[in-house]
Amino acid sequence: MLLVVCDGVSDRPVKQFDDKTPLQAARKPAMDAIARNGISGIMDVIAPGVVPGSDTAHLALFGYDPYKAYTGRGPIEAAGAGISLVKGDVAFRCNFATSADGRHVTDRRAGRIRSGTAALAKALSGMKIEDVDVIFKEGSEHRAVLVLRGPGLDHRVSEVDPHSEGEILRSEPLSPGAEKTARLLNEFVRMSHEVLADHEVNRDREKQGLPKADIVLPRGAGSVGDLEPMSERYGLRCAGVAGVTLVKGLCRMVGMDVIDVPGATGGLDTDYMAKAKAVLQSLETHDFVFLNVKAPDIAGHDGDFRLKVQVIESIDMMLGLILKDLHEDVVVALTADHSTPISVKDHSADPVPVTISGADSRVDSVRKYDEISAAVGALGRIRGMDLLPIMMGMANRSAKFGA
Ligand code: ZN
Ligand code: ZN
Repeated sequence: MLLVVCDGVSDRPVKQFDDKTPLQAARKPAMDAIARNGISGIMDVIAPGVVPGSDTAHLALFGYDPYKAYTGRGPIEAAGAGISLVKGDVAFRCNFATSADGRHVTDRRAGRIRSGTAALAKALSGMKIEDVDVIFKEGSEHRAVLVLRGPGLDHRVSEVDPHSEGEILRSEPLSPGAEKTARLLNEFVRMSHEVLADHEVNRDREKQGLPKADIVLPRGAGSVGDLEPMSERYGLRCAGVAGVTLVKGLCRMVGMDVIDVPGATGGLDTDYMAKAKAVLQSLETHDFVFLNVKAPDIAGHDGDFRLKVQVIESIDMMLGLILKDLHEDVVVALTADHSTPISVKDHSADPVPVTISGADSRVDSVRKYDEISAAVGALGRIRGMDLLPIMMGMANRSAKFGA
């Protein structure tokens, strides 16, 4: 089985371009071939009218109920950074920020600091606050991840990040059991300033006239629930091919083998051919391979119609290479994790087109892969959580229910 997710590719008609969506305007023989050879429909990735984030959307596409599995973005970012979380951990995504005095934030991104964050992170990681261990890892630019590991933690705490310049907030417990976590979080912020303010990296930055990265602002607290790995849930060996950290983190959280593809950046310059090769290779050793291409979402957020069309055509070329060498037994699903309409420049609740084909799959009248054509297909209107079970059914991998 192969699941291809074109991140945010789904769209709305754009007036200046003949009222077409980017998918309708693009030349995409490979995508249309999948639609022609299988069944299509539209999909509410979370539920009708709900605007999906990429994280919750992917959880649904992997067959998990996002309302149960999702507690916040911290754990996903931590998994993406390669930290293996254990039950009871509370994880946060963080910014290195600049504060004058450890209380007021003057720059939430520390001048988008680019170098030295590994050394700063090292100074914080391994600290102990009360009986809890601090695991801290730098990400790209000003981003980082904090994991608190120890007894009695609860992610239900209020934010310390003011989300703009201004006074750092005090974290408060949002549930009776979260008092300790709130206290430790406040203490971590205080200690981060104590450790970082006079760090060598910051002394250098001061000399160069750059804003110091002298405090850490954690946010997006979450804990890992009991996410049963896909291997156990479905009896499938699963692999994920993705460029962006967030999606890689999700793959790790559900127990997929994450295939690192050199050149797969997740950006507009991603190496499509390398990704195609990685997908074909992974299909030889895995039952289910997931491929995410981020670029359409970026074009959508930029509101750039022409770029989105161009990105779709590049993805189609990659899909063409995959289809050419694909074993005919493989069930292929092509879809998006949400719509990112050019006119909205953000995610929207519009359902996404989905098309599935396999060796002896039913074939409907849909000839093209786009939002409007797919809507009349035999698949009807499904939810994101139903996609994987439907694929498994078509691949004859579902167990019988009853006698
Ligand atoms: Zn997305
Ligand atoms: Zn997006």
